[in-house]
Amino acid sequence: MKGHKDVWIVGETKDGKIESVTFELVTAGKALAQALSEKLVSIFLGNGIEEEARNLFSYGVEEVYVLENPELANYNLDLYGTCLEKVISEKKPRIVLLGHTDMGAELGPVIAFRLGTSIVTDCVELAIDESKGFLLRTKPIQGGVALGVFRDEGLPQMATIRRKSFLPAERVTDSYQDVSVMNVDLSGVRKRIHLLDRIKEETAGVKLEDAEIIVAGGRGIGDAEGFKVLDELARYLKGALGASRAACDNGWVPTSIQIGITGKIVAPRVYIAVGISGASQHMSGCSRARTIVAINKDPNAPIFKQSHFGVIGDWKIVVPAFLDKLKSLE
Ligand SMILES: Cc1cc2nc3c(=O)[nH]c(=O)nc-3n(C[C@H](O)[C@H](O)[C@H](O)COP(=O)(O)OP(=O)(O)OC[C@H]3O[C@@H](n4cnc5c(N)ncnc54)[C@H](O)[C@@H]3O)c2cc1C
Repeated sequence: MKGHKDVWIVGETKDGKIESVTFELVTAGKALAQALSEKLVSIFLGNGIEEEARNLFSYGVEEVYVLENPELANYNLDLYGTCLEKVISEKKPRIVLLGHTDMGAELGPVIAFRLGTSIVTDCVELAIDESKGFLLRTKPIQGGVALGVFRDEGLPQMATIRRKSFLPAERVTDSYQDVSVMNVDLSGVRKRIHLLDRIKEETAGVKLEDAEIIVAGGRGIGDAEGFKVLDELARYLKGALGASRAACDNGWVPTSIQIGITGKIVAPRVYIAVGISGASQHMSGCSRARTIVAINKDPNAPIFKQSHFGVIGDWKIVVPAFLDKLKSLE
């Protein structure tokens, strides 16, 4: 690893604000930096984001670089790829982490290829191999039935991380330092991709990934009508509706709300699982919830072993009664 040191995270911003995935990268990167006794460094690309990027110091990041240019205001593979390749080649970080987002999932492999190293995408766990100091990257494989741990010797060691696999970092200090701003010249870069328009996705209610409370239903709900009752509860709690794969496969709800290893990973404050047995593929998508409440008519359902609170009963009785009680408390 001669010459390569420090753990870098590639931060993301949207409309001038740091995106939440960046704070998850801070958590992931900090653990690795501590294990290696090296620095945690963040790099941003954008325009006019210096002040916002400075905030990362208060989350424990030790150095912040910002590559500034009006052309970097929106993500562009050609421009971001060229800038990052250059700065990574010069500064030689040991580890580079990106979010497995629209940006990171595209940019990461391109940079890895250009730098002649490898990357493991969509990782859910990261660790340092104590004997040699290599990055161990864990990701679901074979359609989510197993986890694979990857290690290689290419430098820098790169990975993209799946959203919500790491808790967002918390503010640890009020001290700020100066951001290292690099004004980059993009005049020679061939820009093959042009942003024509940005269309905001319309979501009714709270987005599943951002919801503080999720009410999720499984096969035990029985049909699409049953999900309307869960949806009413979710809306009442200002939360979002989720589902197990069995419910999605039955066509009762869209697959976009499937939670689990082959669906979305969520980390709400409260996860109410209704008529869900607790299969490992489902639980790996919701186990980061702070509180899991299970409603199931089978007292031996595996989900009761993983939930903080359990209600044994038919959801058709329990859920409407719960909703009535909530309404009566208003
Ligand atoms: C490669 C692979 C990937 C997978 N990925 C995912 C994934 O991402 N997400 C996912 O969810 N699954 C996934 N699965 C499927 C997973 O293994 C389970 O089959 C699935 O999660 C089961 O869904 P369920 O709990 O809704 O159904 P079931 O296991 O059938 O459980 C239904 C539960 O409802 C209860 N119930 C029935 N009626 C009532 C009632 N009236 N009131 C209260 N409770 C009731 C039952 O007691 C039972 O516990 C995957 C499987 C494979 C092989």
